[in-house]
Amino acid sequence: MSENRTPLPDPTVGPAGPDTAPAADVQNTDPDAGTPDTPRPVPGQLVFKAARRGKPPRHIADTDMAGRRQMLQDMGHKPFRAQQLSRHYFERFASRPEDMTDLPKNGREQLVGDTMPELLNTVRTLHADDGDTVKRVHRLFDGALVESVMMRYPNRVTMCISSQAGCGMNCPFCATGQAGLTRNLSAAEIVGQVVEGIRMLRDGEVGRKEQDPLRVSNIVFMGMGEALANYKATMEAVHRLIDPAPEGLGISARGLTMSTVGLVPGMRKFTQEGLPITLALSLHAPDDELRDELIPINTRWKVDEALDAARDYFDATGRRISIEYALIRDINDQGWRADLLGEKLNARGRGWVHVNPIPLNPTPGSKWTASRRGVEQNFVERLRAHGIPTTVRDTRGSDIDGACGQLAAAS
Ligand code: SF4
Repeated sequence: MSENRTPLPDPTVGPAGPDTAPAADVQNTDPDAGTPDTPRPVPGQLVFKAARRGKPPRHIADTDMAGRRQMLQDMGHKPFRAQQLSRHYFERFASRPEDMTDLPKNGREQLVGDTMPELLNTVRTLHADDGDTVKRVHRLFDGALVESVMMRYPNRVTMCISSQAGCGMNCPFCATGQAGLTRNLSAAEIVGQVVEGIRMLRDGEVGRKEQDPLRVSNIVFMGMGEALANYKATMEAVHRLIDPAPEGLGISARGLTMSTVGLVPGMRKFTQEGLPITLALSLHAPDDELRDELIPINTRWKVDEALDAARDYFDATGRRISIEYALIRDINDQGWRADLLGEKLNARGRGWVHVNPIPLNPTPGSKWTASRRGVEQNFVERLRAHGIPTTVRDTRGSDIDGACGQLAAAS
């Protein structure tokens, strides 16, 4: 990791340095991006439901062990095979039927094909940071494209995953938002991104060969989509990630970060789950006038409502909230906005929140660009003067098409 990198979230230190290339710093507005039959939103339009498309094939990762037994029975297979199949998928990360020798040879291919269909076809892989950052574009069964990113650090590995193909939240500076919402991902499509990443690590495809293999320790829902708008599948996926093997992957809940643009009912529901997962609120503006423009969901749920929901999440879970703030030149980077943000956070108490200003990743031809260095510094100092812990974070892999949406847009 180079000196100027801000570390990724570390479960041992809390949300002091959330990571990666979040949805917020994408600006590619390539008109050919996305899936061709996805209607493009008009400015400010919010899309909560995608046009009906076929559903991806069922996979054991869509459901818990009891559901898997039922699934097998419904398919005419022996329910007890659920345990064996789960071991192969969640413990051994196997994909080839010939490696699953404890399953009867006769009918093995069919059994595996029925219950663990290949859902992600990786069509593009790009490396950066000496191979420690790997971005991948996956084509789904219906042609929709999604991205995942893996970042390897000395003591941990973080993955940034997508929860939707496209996004209906329509943030004007975001490639994914401009391309519209294609569809929600299934739980297995979400989990599959992580399993694919684990397989890459296992096979020595991430980082230098001499490095010890690591397990994926941190997962951030900061790829394409608003995860809380795909609530049911997202929560199923969360359970597959954190439930002990072989029911799930057994990753610590403290290593997960759920990102939202402020879908307040989703935040409230997520609070009820009572899981020690970090919540990251992409705020980007402390005042409704600007935020209505930058984050169209703000026309439904205002800054104060989103901050109240975030504070309540902290009270319920004890997990410090991350406020994400993409610094956009002459748009949201004024000192008075840093003061207003500091005041609004302090009005809700101390010690519950951390702010991560993120320099916007500039894209040629876009009107949105990163703040000047001195302006960024001033913004940070003003927040710190209010006693708000603040860490500017750089984004890994910005030299390979930045954050979510840019890579899929170019594929
Ligand atoms: S919520 Fe959607 S449109 Fe807004 S920044 Fe994130 S991915 Fe882009």
